Amino acid sequence: MNDCPIIIILYLFRLLKDFLMKKYIYFTLLAALFSTIVTAQKPQKLNSNQIYEKIQKLNFLGTALYIAAHPDDENTRLISYLANNVKARTAYLSLTRGDGGQNLIGTEIRELLGLIRTQELLAARGIDGGEQLFTRANDFGYSKHPKETLEFWDKEKVLSDVVWAIRTFKPDVIINRFNHRTPGTTHGHHTTSAMLSVEAFDLAANKTKYTNQLKHTSVWQPQRLFFNTSSWFYRSQAAFKKATEGKLSTVDVGVYYPLKGLSNNEVASMASSQHLCQGFGRVTRRGSQQEYVEFLKGTKPKVQNDIFSGINTTWNRIKGGGEIGDILYEVEKNFAFSNPSKHLPELLKAYDKINLLTDTHWKAIKLKQLKEIIEAAAGLYLEVSATSSSTTPNGQVEIRMEVLNRSNLTTFFDSYSYEQNGVTVVKSPEKQLENNVKLNLSDTIQLKNNAYSDPYWLKNKWSLGMYDVTNQLQIGKPESDRPLQITFHLNMWEHDISFTKNVVYRYSKRDKGEIYEPFEILPEVTTKLANKVLIFSDGKPQKVQVVIRAGENNIKGNVGLDAPRNWTISPKEIPFSIAQKGDNLTVDFMVTPPNGQSEGVLKSFATINGKQYRKELVEINYNHIPKQSVLLDSEAKVVRLDIKKNGNYIGYIAGAGDVIPESLRQIGYNVLVIDPTKINNENLHKFDAVVVGIRAYNTVDALKFKQKFLLEYVEKGGNMIVQYNTSGRRGIDVGAPYELKVSRDRVTDETATVTIIAKKHSLMNFPNKIESSDFNGWVQERGLYFPNKWGKEFAPILSMNDKGETAKEGSLLVAKHGKGYYMYTGLSFFRELPAGVSGAYKLFANMLSIGKENIKTQQEIKE
Ligand SMILES: [Zn+2]
Repeated sequence: MNDCPIIIILYLFRLLKDFLMKKYIYFTLLAALFSTIVTAQKPQKLNSNQIYEKIQKLNFLGTALYIAAHPDDENTRLISYLANNVKARTAYLSLTRGDGGQNLIGTEIRELLGLIRTQELLAARGIDGGEQLFTRANDFGYSKHPKETLEFWDKEKVLSDVVWAIRTFKPDVIINRFNHRTPGTTHGHHTTSAMLSVEAFDLAANKTKYTNQLKHTSVWQPQRLFFNTSSWFYRSQAAFKKATEGKLSTVDVGVYYPLKGLSNNEVASMASSQHLCQGFGRVTRRGSQQEYVEFLKGTKPKVQNDIFSGINTTWNRIKGGGEIGDILYEVEKNFAFSNPSKHLPELLKAYDKINLLTDTHWKAIKLKQLKEIIEAAAGLYLEVSATSSSTTPNGQVEIRMEVLNRSNLTTFFDSYSYEQNGVTVVKSPEKQLENNVKLNLSDTIQLKNNAYSDPYWLKNKWSLGMYDVTNQLQIGKPESDRPLQITFHLNMWEHDISFTKNVVYRYSKRDKGEIYEPFEILPEVTTKLANKVLIFSDGKPQKVQVVIRAGENNIKGNVGLDAPRNWTISPKEIPFSIAQKGDNLTVDFMVTPPNGQSEGVLKSFATINGKQYRKELVEINYNHIPKQSVLLDSEAKVVRLDIKKNGNYIGYIAGAGDVIPESLRQIGYNVLVIDPTKINNENLHKFDAVVVGIRAYNTVDALKFKQKFLLEYVEKGGNMIVQYNTSGRRGIDVGAPYELKVSRDRVTDETATVTIIAKKHSLMNFPNKIESSDFNGWVQERGLYFPNKWGKEFAPILSMNDKGETAKEGSLLVAKHGKGYYMYTGLSFFRELPAGVSGAYKLFANMLSIGKENIKTQQEIKE
């Protein structure tokens, strides 16, 4: 739930290394258990039990949609219960991709983190049997209230996307994870997800609303809407009972599945443990366990504890379904576990009848489900792999096909086909597929003006709150359709049937075995600026590196940089040639900033035969998700600071992880990272200031024992800056020399007005004059976990608040202690400095310089 498990996340930070080790082992075990998990692009290979379960699902014609805001909000116990016990077609609609969360396994943040979390959701659904849907909403970070949420999200667009999900998925039952009636009690995204779901429940059936969608789908009225409640949402078990008396349906989500050898809650734990980058590992639970749903809207279930009560979920539900049911219920009843291929004649008969259905919605769903069953029952193996991981929009693809039938059913391989530029190319091998005799084919496909295959929602520039996707048919999809597919046309026992397969890239590594990767279409050349934020603390030119990557063999061209006004680049362009596809070449430019404060964007480009390429290729490669190839605008922020500094040698005690030392080095400080266990009474005095990294008192046990040396250092004239620590129910002791109570106060609006309340304080004047304009351009938030109570020794410097809240004065507190200074700040310097926010640099330089008014600034020393 993003904010709710924050305590768990923090706890896991401490156990990160250990935890990840265990996770990978766990994941391996899990993969062995669930051969159907779509790890990367590996083809599914269903065993007999799984085929049987698929037939049970084929024979259930009911649909459920679960709605919340983030990856990991979803209740996998209920989703798994609906998908595996009820056998309903079940989807999770996550309004966002979780772009604003934290990343425990790598450095990706924001949109790239959203991409990882999308894949983790798909992995979770691969285990619990659900499907995955999204809207265009971008997770912009923590939000206290739905009102604020909807200032960032375009309500009409997000609501339209929820309506679109309902109209296309056509659920009988919708279940909200959050309460729409209690804004302000949880993350604003959470409440908003429930509020939009309640509105969309009616709008989806209204043919005068979002009429552009009706070119592609039809209106839909779900039967009923629930809220998946629990005592967690209320203050106590008694309050929960009182609020929900008589309104609840209860389901036991602890049911046991003998076919899997697992309890439903075990399946659910495995699914939610896929949220690796959020540290969502869970202890597996077994045994009976209750889930509660509160009826909100629609027709009340007649049987209280049956979510689908009164809804026809049999084949009789659709016109012409009766005779299909007659065939398929018999197959289910008499299923031959030792030889599923025995059922192929009946399955093919049903296949022909489904093909004739006039209900296009159910026809598409049931054909897809049944084809998967037929393919598995016949032991068909159909795979098409490219000999290279990518090609260019006009490139060639060499493909290898493996075609194998492992049944006695008379089967012919009539032809295969693919689409190119709107034209279907058909090739006809016309071969009989003898039982267990493999057929290998190869072909070369010449592409014509294909689009790049990168994630569709990252193709256009997005805003903080919304992705820009205009193609209605793409909206909601978890990922881009794969760029190249081959359709195999077979004739099985006199029935024509076709199977479409994505082209994959398959290879092996000695230490990893066989690896499947998505096949991609990528530019001929991409460039990237080695550093994404470049800080110039004076007027001197700096070397800026551009990395060129070849997307095909033998490329030759020029690479250049576009500079902001008044910045100069030398040379203008640099010629390059790269012989081997995939190779990189690095070239250097000299960039000179203007005099005085300035910031802008540096953009790199390559030109080949008059065509300009401005994209950077970002590859994301983790073991638990398929490899991701993303194309972003190749650019970097450049900042020329007009900044004065006193003091030079900074000691840094790392906490949970931030890049402040690198940021300080960029503006010329000499920073030494201190091992906290080595701190003693004499090795700190050499530092002009000692800075403590974020959450250090939460994560570094040694600090507790070394605090006395740190305070002694301050007493003797040192300068200590402590950045934010989190405070749980029991609070946190940060060892301040005077009373200081860290609270959960935060200011999440990064544009919130900042009032300087201590205008005359040295922190606001020396060596840089701080003005309100220095608080412009901050990113994500102002700060978090501000103290809300402090001793009179502390001077509060700034005041700020989110809309509708009281002023918070604890963001930056300073106290004279002995001859030195102790400062505590919840301001998000760990975000602002790496983002190149000049005002944050000036303020931090003042904090490092406090007490050094009588010493010359470094500029003065030079002059
Ligand atoms: Zn959440």
